[in-house]
Amino acid sequence: MNIHAIHTGFVRIKASQVEGAGHGLARRLAMFTDPTWTDWLPTYAWAIEHPEGVIVVDTGQGAHLLESGKSLHPYIRWEVAFRIAPEQEIGPQLRARGIAPRDVKRVVLTHLHMDHDGGLAHFPHSRILVARGELNAASGWAGRIRGYLPNRWPTWFDPEPLDLAPEPFGPFAASKRLTADETVIAVATPGHTADHVSIIVQDGDTAIMLAGDTSYNQHLMLAGKVDGVSADEAVSGATLNAIRRLVQTHQTIYLPTHDPQSATRLATRQLAATPTAPPPDTPQTAATHP
Ligand SMILES: [Zn+2]
Repeated sequence: MNIHAIHTGFVRIKASQVEGAGHGLARRLAMFTDPTWTDWLPTYAWAIEHPEGVIVVDTGQGAHLLESGKSLHPYIRWEVAFRIAPEQEIGPQLRARGIAPRDVKRVVLTHLHMDHDGGLAHFPHSRILVARGELNAASGWAGRIRGYLPNRWPTWFDPEPLDLAPEPFGPFAASKRLTADETVIAVATPGHTADHVSIIVQDGDTAIMLAGDTSYNQHLMLAGKVDGVSADEAVSGATLNAIRRLVQTHQTIYLPTHDPQSATRLATRQLAATPTAPPPDTPQTAATHP
């Protein structure tokens, strides 16, 4: 199955967002006093060429994010910066690969942060799937206060709720098969946001994990280091442990959105190295919505 890595510009954030410091509220406020910016990190979206139609996973950044410095929201104004040209948005990049946005049957969003839903405008004719709890968290004024940009969603945006079933898939507590051949599966990876999902593509013996923001890079996942924006460190830690168990039990290519190595790992089919120590078997407490 062919998967395209689509590089939709760059983002930079504070080092204490990538790897959390301290605990509780202090951890979540640390980035506001942290003077250290990361390098410019890529923002990837993915297009899976599946016999049932192209499935896009996340839509990457949009050029409107260049206005983020004018936002009244303190995080958006001061703690994140973007680089993107209009031709780097996902629509033109799909066309350059011979995929018309109309060919995209479904768009699945790992979560609704602005660098994942920034290209939605290119998909007015596609079914859009978002975890129900994620959509609730991101909507309205409460969503804006949380740092989402529901005011930038296309006027037609009315996604289908993606309800995972309490059926384990490997180490993940909840899942949903997205294709009849069961090669594309959404799994619950709560933590970075409470209803964050990842997409696993079963390619022969290999699990290709389109991991969203479960961690900012593979090293942090293997080391079990939780980011600085997760509301609940324990929930994120259990998800990272689940991913490490996947890596131990399946050949896995791990592809976080902002890992500078993700596209190379996909192109060279480089497997995640097995963690040396087995991760603790902490149960995931994934939200599912019947
Ligand atoms: Zn995010």
